[in-house]
Amino acid sequence: MAKHIYCHIPFCAAKCPYCDFYSESGRDNSVIQDVFSAMRDELRSLENPDRVETIYIGGGTPSFVNSRLICFLLDTIRETNSVRPGAEITIEVNPSSMSYDKAVEYRDAGINRVSAGIQSLHDDHLKTLGRLHDAKGAEECLRDIRKAGIENISADLIIALPGQTTDDVVEDLNKLAELGVKHISTYSLSIEKGTPFYRRYSDNIEDLVPPEKEREMYHAVRDELVKLGFIPYEISNSCLPGYESRHNSSYWEGEEYFGIGAGAHGYIDGRRYMHVNDIGQYIKDPLGTDTEEILDDESKMREYPFLKLRTTEGMNLDEFKRRFSADAEEIFGDAIKANIQKGLLIKEDGFLRLTRSGIDWSNKVFEDFLC
Ligand code: SF4
Repeated sequence: MAKHIYCHIPFCAAKCPYCDFYSESGRDNSVIQDVFSAMRDELRSLENPDRVETIYIGGGTPSFVNSRLICFLLDTIRETNSVRPGAEITIEVNPSSMSYDKAVEYRDAGINRVSAGIQSLHDDHLKTLGRLHDAKGAEECLRDIRKAGIENISADLIIALPGQTTDDVVEDLNKLAELGVKHISTYSLSIEKGTPFYRRYSDNIEDLVPPEKEREMYHAVRDELVKLGFIPYEISNSCLPGYESRHNSSYWEGEEYFGIGAGAHGYIDGRRYMHVNDIGQYIKDPLGTDTEEILDDESKMREYPFLKLRTTEGMNLDEFKRRFSADAEEIFGDAIKANIQKGLLIKEDGFLRLTRSGIDWSNKVFEDFLC
């Protein structure tokens, strides 16, 4: 049924002022334990004939909860699924809730990939973001993970922060490479409705990095990553050869996955669902969903270019034909021609890819394929 499992741990030590992901802070241990028991119940209800190839424990902040609960979750996954030896098992961590001992416990539980929310290696920018760690703590966290024997480390960075220069980010990238990080995800700051940042910046928009400057920074970051030997394999993700995220790549392939936990999204049997963003409700009904959408063949076909064009490899036109028994150039003829003419798409070696400026206008290009 699915080779991939995503588990959402909806707890954080404190809410960052820019974040609109579903997570809660200030919950006591008994509630946290109840959520893990509900996740066990959800996992026990699954029937999965497929061997699991990737598990991703995200959040929220999974490293915020006691590592015994993470081990419990992984044990339950193994009890209810057949997990392939060598499966990629990732956990997201924050420097403020990590330690060498925790990294050892994760390694012993079979976790072989860590994604660290570093965001910046500059104290002033971390302060702007309201993060609980400083640059020294972030570096220590990465050293601890390596010392524990986990080599496959990814770091998240936020770029285009108020007052941040391209040199600041380039410095961060070099430091991360020096610290042995194998995968780097860079996201430009986006101001989401309902967050404290939205209130802070809606009347002070001039404090934000202007869009042209943000794009310049984005491309400078990609160029620097290439200099450092990283391969930008997706719009926001780059890695050293062989260190692509297998879990995230499955999303861009349109593969199905279970989404476990309050606020988790899943995609099974052509049904996309989301669990309710409410831990009380989730504890009562771990199988309940908040939204559900059935993807028919037409929707899957329209969504496929949107997923594949995010990748540097692009969309293979023969693969499209094999999957959907249809010719992409006939179905999307107008969108393809118009975007090639605008210089946003390129067709080469049987693939359709975004150009450098196509990346800047990617949302516009994707929209043309969806309608
Ligand atoms: S730690 Fe991560 S998930 Fe939690 S509030 Fe901050 S950005 Fe959001």
